[in-house]
Amino acid sequence: MGQDVQAAADNSSAAAAVEPILDVDGVTLQYKTKEHLITATYRVGFKVYPADRFVLLGPSGCGKSTLLKGVAGYMTPVEGAMRLKGREIHEPGPDRVMVFQEFDQLLPWKTVKQNITFALMNGGKCSTQKDADELAMEYIKKVKLDQFEDTYPHMLSGGMKQRVAIARGMAMEPDILLMDEPFAALDALTRLQMQEELLQLWEDTHFTVLFVTHSIEEALIIGSRILVLSPHPGQVKAELNAHHLNHSNVGDKEFSELQSKIHNMLFADRILEDELAAAEGAAQS
Ligand code: ADP
Ligand code: MG
Repeated sequence: MGQDVQAAADNSSAAAAVEPILDVDGVTLQYKTKEHLITATYRVGFKVYPADRFVLLGPSGCGKSTLLKGVAGYMTPVEGAMRLKGREIHEPGPDRVMVFQEFDQLLPWKTVKQNITFALMNGGKCSTQKDADELAMEYIKKVKLDQFEDTYPHMLSGGMKQRVAIARGMAMEPDILLMDEPFAALDALTRLQMQEELLQLWEDTHFTVLFVTHSIEEALIIGSRILVLSPHPGQVKAELNAHHLNHSNVGDKEFSELQSKIHNMLFADRILEDELAAAEGAAQS
């Protein structure tokens, strides 16, 4: 095997021979309300390969959460298709697990461990309590919450609750972990710590994650690849590589350049929108 071929094979994203875990193909997602038809995303396409940390980045309201709802199986595209390991997505399943921003995604009447074992038993991941207990403890240790396994959620900080939600999601060992701005409600320091821990977990297990954020910095730190989405309705602006960037690069020349490049991409749209609105306004008056 030549060096180039080897390099291509090592880079799962670039190797044509590797099948994507998730294939989102020209997907338009809409909400129908009594009065309106809201197009949340318009013909969005991307492919997530094994062990990708794939980030959907775009301003609030551009349809990031909607895309995750589609992948999770809660919404059907009006156009295009979404495939998980080649099978079209029609409904939710334990092969896709979602972690949300909210701290109340845990069951308050169950302990840390019970929150995880409950998901493992109900999701069909484990058939005996013993197996569920063992797997739960394995992931509780991974997120450094051993000694808190018997604690109830209301005793935990926001960061700890998010660790439990992440441990629960990872313990299900889904084909793809879906994370919707999981650190957005945390204070800056905890957020930084959680980003580092997520990357550490990834080093450990090389799971595949589809991660949503509206923070350019977070996208560059977390993502191996970044899909930049335009404001409402979300359309693909660009797909970028960021696998070589992490916290240690914040402030670097390359990091800053990418940051402003993305910023300009998103900002250019805003200007265009303003101009269009102004033009429409002028045409009407
Ligand atoms: P993001 O996660 O990027 O902030 P969302 O996916 O939540 O964006 O929303 C995309 C668009 O769809 C927005 O214009 C939003 O107002 C609209 N939307 C989201 N959820 C609903 C809903 N349940 N019913 C109607 N419109 C919705
Ligand atoms: Mg959202």
